[in-house]
Amino acid sequence: LIEQDRAHLVHPVASWRGHEATGVRLLKSAKGATVTDATGHQLLDGFAGLWCVNAGYGQESVIEAATKQLRELPYATGYFSLGSEPAARLAARLADHAPGDLNHVYFTLGGSDAVDSTVRFARYYWNARGLPQKDQFISVQQGYHGSSTVGAGLTALPAFHAGFSLPLDWQHKISSHYAYRNPVGNDPQAIIATSVAELRAKIDQIGGPERVAAFYVEPIQGSGGVLVPPKGWIAAMRAVCTELDILFIADEVITGFGRTGPLFACEEEGIVPDMMTTAKGLTSGYVPMGAVFLSDHVYDTIADGAGAAAVGHGYTYSAHPVSAAVGLAVLDLYEDGLLENGRRMGARLLAGLQGLSDHPLVGDVRGRGMLAAIELVTDKQLKTPLPAVAQPSTRIFDRAWQNGLVLRAFAQGVIGYAPPLCCTEAEIDQIVERTRQTLDQTLD
Ligand code: PMP
Repeated sequence: LIEQDRAHLVHPVASWRGHEATGVRLLKSAKGATVTDATGHQLLDGFAGLWCVNAGYGQESVIEAATKQLRELPYATGYFSLGSEPAARLAARLADHAPGDLNHVYFTLGGSDAVDSTVRFARYYWNARGLPQKDQFISVQQGYHGSSTVGAGLTALPAFHAGFSLPLDWQHKISSHYAYRNPVGNDPQAIIATSVAELRAKIDQIGGPERVAAFYVEPIQGSGGVLVPPKGWIAAMRAVCTELDILFIADEVITGFGRTGPLFACEEEGIVPDMMTTAKGLTSGYVPMGAVFLSDHVYDTIADGAGAAAVGHGYTYSAHPVSAAVGLAVLDLYEDGLLENGRRMGARLLAGLQGLSDHPLVGDVRGRGMLAAIELVTDKQLKTPLPAVAQPSTRIFDRAWQNGLVLRAFAQGVIGYAPPLCCTEAEIDQIVERTRQTLDQTLD
């Protein structure tokens, strides 16, 4: 199987020459927070797949909902004027749960096309308001917004731009709030003031508010290394956008659906974005689905004024009934204790990882809810990144795997955690213990 995989299946990263050392490991089965590979080796999935299997594997109610829907109606387009019962129900329930007036839901297949859709919607919105010159977009360094051309351009990770003439000329960035290595230090007020000033300066530099369509943030930057903004940073950036009439778009593809504690991280920040993107935990990884939430005023403006232009955007698998049925079953789980368990286990995970702060390799421990990271250094004073983590074929990933733990090693010397929200206390403690073991072996 490994030979067939190597010969024919293209894996982003592992298939590219020079990265073969990463190797490919085939997973065979999974239950709860445990995955089993093709050799029978069992591991705790400290990353919930790719930050998505929030409900854990093998949830019977989800499997039943998908199976029932497959029998009853496996496909109905969400495009044009058709629809399906589960999609209508899911949209209504999501609107009910979403912050503020985010009452309109546009389903996609995942996160990248959700982000792409917000760019379309933002342009439709300004065109409908008679302001087509508002066509510039701003996002944040170390942010990740997808792998499509538009999403990769909004993304600020160099690997996603290389060799592809990205970012596009209407895509701009401001610095991240990243506290551990921030040139202004880690004082929250200084970071907020700097970011606000930088956002205003960037807007002026690209032609003023009359040219800027939207500003994107992740409530916690995920792929950039789990970077948690200081309390008040999101609200301060939202306030600038409100004042200057620029759409504020929250990318909750990772942070949504209980990952940071509440159903949506924006709730904790006390803000309501104009649009919000989600995916991953929406269907907990069982089937693909993403969703854009549009506020009343954005939706109404587009619906009233965009005319023929807005008809030209949609996907074959939008609002897929099986995905919607899964989304409904997963939402039941969040409501029936999964969010609550995630909050308790998240606090335990962060406390456990903070207990490793004295380890010689640990430079920074950060996170919120079931989303955490350790930044590894070889010199705590100089904050020198641990070189082994600087490659996808990191030895840390391999060692953790041998120790029965799946974690994610990021390019910038960071290991990340996003376990399923269904973890037990014993599983969380094991994740921390296996991390300690892995770090000790890395010292040897
Ligand atoms: N936005 C964010 C914040 C993400 O983390 C991701 C995926 N990691 C995406 C968008 C893209 O989602 P997808 O991979 O489902 O296209």
